[in-house]
Amino acid sequence: MSYVDEVYERVVRENPSQPEFHQAVREVLDSLRAVIDRNEEKYRREALLERITMPERQLLFRVPWVDDKGQVQVNNAFRVQFSSAIGPYKGGLRLHPSVNLGIIKFLGFEQVFKNSLTGLPIGGGKGGSDFDPKGKSDREIMAFCQSFMTELHKYIGADVDVPAGDIGTGAREIGYLYGQYKRLTGRYEGVLTGKGLSYGGSLARTEATGYGLLYLTEEMLRANGHDIAGKIVVVSGAGNVAIYAVQKAQQLGANVVTVSDSTGWVYDPAGIDVALLREVKEVRRARLSEYARARATAEYHEGRGVFTVKCDVALPCATQNELGLEDAKALVKNGCIAVAEGANMPTTLEATDYLRENGVLFAPGKAANAGGVATSALEMSQNSMRLSWSFEEVDSKLKDIMVGIFHNIDEAAKAYGMPGNYVAGANIAGFLKVAEAMEAQGVV
Ligand code: NDP
Repeated sequence: MSYVDEVYERVVRENPSQPEFHQAVREVLDSLRAVIDRNEEKYRREALLERITMPERQLLFRVPWVDDKGQVQVNNAFRVQFSSAIGPYKGGLRLHPSVNLGIIKFLGFEQVFKNSLTGLPIGGGKGGSDFDPKGKSDREIMAFCQSFMTELHKYIGADVDVPAGDIGTGAREIGYLYGQYKRLTGRYEGVLTGKGLSYGGSLARTEATGYGLLYLTEEMLRANGHDIAGKIVVVSGAGNVAIYAVQKAQQLGANVVTVSDSTGWVYDPAGIDVALLREVKEVRRARLSEYARARATAEYHEGRGVFTVKCDVALPCATQNELGLEDAKALVKNGCIAVAEGANMPTTLEATDYLRENGVLFAPGKAANAGGVATSALEMSQNSMRLSWSFEEVDSKLKDIMVGIFHNIDEAAKAYGMPGNYVAGANIAGFLKVAEAMEAQGVV
């Protein structure tokens, strides 16, 4: 059996009931075959793949808090410090009822390669809780965040581990987490990113993942003889990534006709009204049905359906495994030319294969959504320097990073005989840097 297959079997055996983690490891290891096979003996002797697929540290803890009725609630919480080979652990905190250790491990594993691709000195980690922020009062959110940080603060720090936002963790939650960290430690440092502008946040961080997704998509289309201007785009999700993906796509001249949330989706052939979308989702924290109610050109549909709409470009920006084989078939049938992942692993392995086999350009999340973490790293730099850059400065660095990532993954794919395979290119380029750092640092 090949070394790659041996390691994959070990991961499955040692991490039962964690299908998302298996899926993420499978995708990475499969595309590393070309690299590993060239040096199998060396990598096997160094147990490099066993080490890279095993987190350096996994923290599991309980978060007790008191709700508005005086009832004590308790949630499971996690922080997986996956790899510090190239910098302090860095990755978001997800607050969603579906969170479990396997999901946090898949996200942490992906984060290692994504962070490497940014070219910035950040390792990989991820955390979160099965706490559901939906329907909670501000006081309940604060109670949860303070209790969560009371345990987490022992393990993080500006040069140790720097968490950020993710699903369910936005500016409000980061603010409460930061306040509690400062109170417990007495330190005012860049320990979290995604902070508010009044207390150390970076301009353009809020927009960064969505904008970065479009910068990379634009470059990928250009390199393949297409132009984003005039294209019909479908977006799923209606959160941080989706909103700013819609905004930047429109600025680049595309027509975005859909968004979705966890209950339904909107089709708006006149183009999504970003101001209204932000009002409904960011201010009122309401369902998308309210968007359709306020806009004559929009139709609201219950359930899923974004990927059945005819489009040139599809940008899944909600959550993992939201784009399956049937969706991929519908996209191909409707003439879609490109899919770029704003969310983490939104496309199943079968759907990814189907899209690629049918000539659809495919940019994997670890490259396409790296703009968020890249700008978080720029926030860390500004905090360390006690400086703030302008929106234009940060946005222009973000654009350079995303264009650089595209060319890096494109060249890696070509160098290993798989031109146009950006999944392989991203995994290989991300891996090579981490592997080199691990080898240089010895058996740790
Ligand atoms: P948000 O919480 O802001 O938004 C998530 C959106 O997806 C919401 O519209 C939500 O619906 C919807 N959604 C969440 N879970 C599900 C589900 N199980 N089924 C259907 N819809 C769902 O999160 P973000 O925009 O920050 O994150 C979206 C994705 O992007 C995630 O995969 C995240 O890991 C990834 N990502 C985020 C980065 C960032 O900087 N924020 C950086 C890199 C990746 P509803 O409105 O009903 O809650």
